[in-house]
Amino acid sequence: MKRDYYEVLGVSRNATKEEIKRAYRRLALKYHPDKSSDPNAEEKFKEISEAYAVLSDDEKRRQYDMFGHAGIESEYSYEDIFRTADFSDIFHDIGFDFGFDEIFKKFFGGFERGFEKKRRGRDLLYSISINLEDAYFGAEKEIEIERNEICPACNGTGVSDRSKIVSCPACNGTGEIRRTERTPFGHFTQITICNDCRGEGKIIKNPCRICRGSGFKRVKRKIRVKIPKGIEDGMHLRLEGEGDAGEKGMKPGDLYIEVNIKENEKFMREGDDLIIIKKISYPEAVLGNEIEIETFEGKEKINIPPGTQSGEIFKIKGKGMPSLSKKRGDLIVKIEIDVPKKLSPHERKLIEELAEEMNIKMNKRAFSKYWKR
Ligand SMILES: [Zn+2]
Ligand SMILES: [Zn+2]
Repeated sequence: MKRDYYEVLGVSRNATKEEIKRAYRRLALKYHPDKSSDPNAEEKFKEISEAYAVLSDDEKRRQYDMFGHAGIESEYSYEDIFRTADFSDIFHDIGFDFGFDEIFKKFFGGFERGFEKKRRGRDLLYSISINLEDAYFGAEKEIEIERNEICPACNGTGVSDRSKIVSCPACNGTGEIRRTERTPFGHFTQITICNDCRGEGKIIKNPCRICRGSGFKRVKRKIRVKIPKGIEDGMHLRLEGEGDAGEKGMKPGDLYIEVNIKENEKFMREGDDLIIIKKISYPEAVLGNEIEIETFEGKEKINIPPGTQSGEIFKIKGKGMPSLSKKRGDLIVKIEIDVPKKLSPHERKLIEELAEEMNIKMNKRAFSKYWKR
């Protein structure tokens, strides 16, 4: 089992970049392969360097925090991990005067040897939009994804009956291409992975015709996704093994479904509570009434007491969203008093009388056209 990178460097999970760098510098000095007396110094040095390379890079650190070692190994080759990391001033401090490539050649035995050459399949991400109602009741959705599957013709080997495996002519079977450049500062040897054989040192002649030797076939698949009750906007569901197929017998990746919940016309969601705005008439607000509230599961009745104010809130316990962990949320009813824009002549008369009764001084001139009868 690979050790946790934070543990390797002896820092906390929320260590700053500076703390990570300090920890690495201290350990690099301790396990300096040329100076340390520790018999495992070289192994240790590799381990701390890899941990530092990942944790000193924001993007890789984020990936590691989310998905662990699998997240790094599915996204980056061993070379990728070190490419962007900046070791130069630390190496200078501890007395390494080699270039980047030389160090890795020296201690790491070339790239790609740190991980197994075969890699597990990539994780895939798919976003779906659902209605609030789907989140309320739970749902099952069918999605279509495209992914790499094992080529059925060659069973993922990339080799057919007519194939022959030969040594790669581009790199003479070494898997690496070396390029030496002469510069004012001296010779620089750059070692890169051979593109022709992808570092394997071997190529397949007359590969499988279906997958051209890759071992994979691009396939569209319909997949049923179970949306659990109470799911929240932006949550990810993980379907294990539904991502891209892995290389030659390695595990497939996972499929992550990001669930977005569309806005609902009637209900607003706040955590596990549902909020609905209910309009009531002025007489109902004044006199009180039993009113009906819509829910996802039919109507609910509540009593509005006499003298209810606009903006007043009533709670119907346990009628909100189901929750993934806790108990159900509440339905929150927010009252708004509906002021009519149009009145019948009779309604008008009654309101005018009410205004008179309440001694409300009305400036009839301001809205004279309404007051003419
Ligand atoms: Zn094939
Ligand atoms: Zn090659």
